[in-house]
Amino acid sequence: MLRGEDVVPLPPQGEPPFITRFAPSPSGLLHLGHAYSALFAHATAKASGGRFLLRIEDLDHTRSRREFEQATLDDLRWLGLRWEAPALRQSTRSDVYRAVLAELRRRRLVYPCFCTRQQIQTEIAQSASAPHGPSGETVYPGTCRGLAPSDADARIARGQPHAWRLDVTAALAETGPLHWYDFRGGWQECRAADLGDVVLGRKDIPTSYHLAVTVDDAEQGVNLVTRGEDLFHATHIHRLLQALLNLPVPYYYHHNLIAAADGQRLAKRNRSVSLRYFRERGETPDAIWTKIGLEGAPATAT
Ligand code: GLU
Repeated sequence: MLRGEDVVPLPPQGEPPFITRFAPSPSGLLHLGHAYSALFAHATAKASGGRFLLRIEDLDHTRSRREFEQATLDDLRWLGLRWEAPALRQSTRSDVYRAVLAELRRRRLVYPCFCTRQQIQTEIAQSASAPHGPSGETVYPGTCRGLAPSDADARIARGQPHAWRLDVTAALAETGPLHWYDFRGGWQECRAADLGDVVLGRKDIPTSYHLAVTVDDAEQGVNLVTRGEDLFHATHIHRLLQALLNLPVPYYYHHNLIAAADGQRLAKRNRSVSLRYFRERGETPDAIWTKIGLEGAPATAT
């Protein structure tokens, strides 16, 4: 395993202690990468005399399972982590997300998108210059953005499945230029447009990762979001949503990802890196901390 080379940040002079969170999705067993992320969030909160919170991101009902949620809680406790207040479960907050989405609809900052995945792929394949996002992913080509409202309303009335997409151009016109601060990378100009019109309300649930995570970090009072660097670009969207919804802007720290010995990303389906596997083999939490490059138990673990 590679060691992370992250440094636990402290709040700038005169600012309150950090409130951090770990936000796992219970769609599999936690692995060493999750342990690293959780311990980093915990250590950061404790180093500043702050609070460490937990959020269960169980929005995806097709992939989330109660037994994984229980395994997540057990594994975190086994590692020695304790969180304040009961964990926030996203599946209980549909009404909150629905209300936020309704507000964005009223302000015409989202539009209904009736495209199937297949249609989007076909359109992108046919277009000579399909834009790509910062991680090389394809960006929604905007097919439904120009639909006449009467047409869109009629399709919705007919019950045609639809997602809700952020009109990123309209949103940025409302907010103007924005910035956010990453303790590893410094000040960042918000480049939300690079990700295109992302989905804020999925076809099957009244929210998406972007909307829920932004609203919930504010709800939980998180003032430092720590998470893996694979989510760095998503923060541009979250910053834009904070501006649109008048939410406080947290600090960020996108930490290194723990890689497997062969350099591959750790995957939930690979049981041999799961915490459960190590536990069953009789390994101790200390051995996990050593594996992920931390020097031992967070001294302030309570
Ligand atoms: N639930 C996300 C995951 O498990 C993390 C979300 C976040 O930290 O913003 O990858």
